[in-house]
Amino acid sequence: MDSGAKVKPDPRRSLPSVDRLLAQLAAHRAELSDWALGAGARWALSEAREHLAQLAPTQRAACIAALPERALSEARRVARAHPVCVVNATGIVLHTNLGRAPLAEGAALELARAARRYVDLEIDLASGARRSRSAAVEEKLRLASGAAGALVVNNNAAALLLLLAALARGREVIVSRGELVEIGGAFRIPEIAEAAGVRLVEVGTTNRTHVDDYERAIGPETALLLKVHRSNFELRGFVSEAPLPELASLGRARGLPVVEDLGSAALVDLSALGFPAESYAPARLAAGADLVCFSGDKLLGGPQAGIVLGRDAESTSRLARHPLARALRVDKLTLAALDWTLAAHLRGTAVHEVPALRALLAPVQTLERRARELAERLRAALPREARVGVEEERGFAGGGSLPGFALAAWVVTIRAPGGAERLARRLRLATPPVLARVRDANVLLDVRTLLEGDEKALETAVREALR
Ligand SMILES: *Cc1c(COP(=O)(O)O)cnc(C)c1O
Repeated sequence: MDSGAKVKPDPRRSLPSVDRLLAQLAAHRAELSDWALGAGARWALSEAREHLAQLAPTQRAACIAALPERALSEARRVARAHPVCVVNATGIVLHTNLGRAPLAEGAALELARAARRYVDLEIDLASGARRSRSAAVEEKLRLASGAAGALVVNNNAAALLLLLAALARGREVIVSRGELVEIGGAFRIPEIAEAAGVRLVEVGTTNRTHVDDYERAIGPETALLLKVHRSNFELRGFVSEAPLPELASLGRARGLPVVEDLGSAALVDLSALGFPAESYAPARLAAGADLVCFSGDKLLGGPQAGIVLGRDAESTSRLARHPLARALRVDKLTLAALDWTLAAHLRGTAVHEVPALRALLAPVQTLERRARELAERLRAALPREARVGVEEERGFAGGGSLPGFALAAWVVTIRAPGGAERLARRLRLATPPVLARVRDANVLLDVRTLLEGDEKALETAVREALR
């Protein structure tokens, strides 16, 4: 190890022991737990051990002197709770990195209630017999959608994996080349297919796929026809895709199920409000899909979950019997929150009570008023050199939802003396953290995604960031 340097003492010998370093940090034991200080101290020592050998002898003392500070900042980092609440001022209602749909108050209360107590998760109280944990939620899903079959799993990626494994394992699945999408967070259709043990048969071209393309690809090994919604990008120009009703007729004629991964779908028909008709899940079953799947925490506005709706009850029962279903099942917390969210849909109050729907459907006059009020508030609180304005802007639904569907948005603009990127960073590090958009020299605060109490939190955070 030390060949050629035998005469020199190993500089690492000058490092203190963990205990000695911890003794130097004793004053911080009121602020930080022993586990965090211990982890910080060990990390700082191992970092110094790596660095020391490369440092010039004159720099070594400084490296060792910095140990308590390095240990302390690492201890603070590991001790920080995660996730913490942030202010979403991006205007992106379904932002995957920000946890997608925030739950409605009622859903959050049910979740917290179920979390603390024993619950009748898998027991029928009348007979005392065992019962499926998701039966009640699946019943509400059938009632809210009109579908004959329903199934809930952990997320939509799991739903698609289960669909493919249960219906097509060892066989072929036909899909358009224009729909071999990657959703982010490493969800790629070809990789899910491989994990499910199915062979994808790609048809058409990136921009155009016709029903004939699917028809020509059907062979003795074909198990199903798959459609995938292009959730996070748009194809424009010389494009065409096989319409679902035509694909469904083809499937029926050849005895093949047609499955559609909708990604983001609602159980409220928003088409009258200008939203794309294909985002209403029941409409896709009506248009001929045998099975559709989508996320619980996108347009539905509930907890993370994967939802499968089926034209008949047998298709979803078949999925439920597959061994993978056990590995992909949801917990009581998800079920409690989803149950409440579905009940709100059944009552007809989801558009008022579910935050994601409320944000997406907010009238533009309301947004303008909130933006003007927020700007007033910030102007009063901020130094003069931070120039605060109000503007109309384009917004995005986000989270793999409604690509190319622009929402009118109102934003508060802040032009900060030190530059927009710097202010955006300081806002992320403020208390509470604020996530905003940057456009040229301005930071944009989009009021669409602000939740109750966020205006006050924003004022505090912006003031802190501009200090
Ligand atoms: C979002 C999305 C998924 C992944 O859903 P998760 O619930 O995040 O697992 C899959 N397919 C499409 C088309 C999507 O938009």
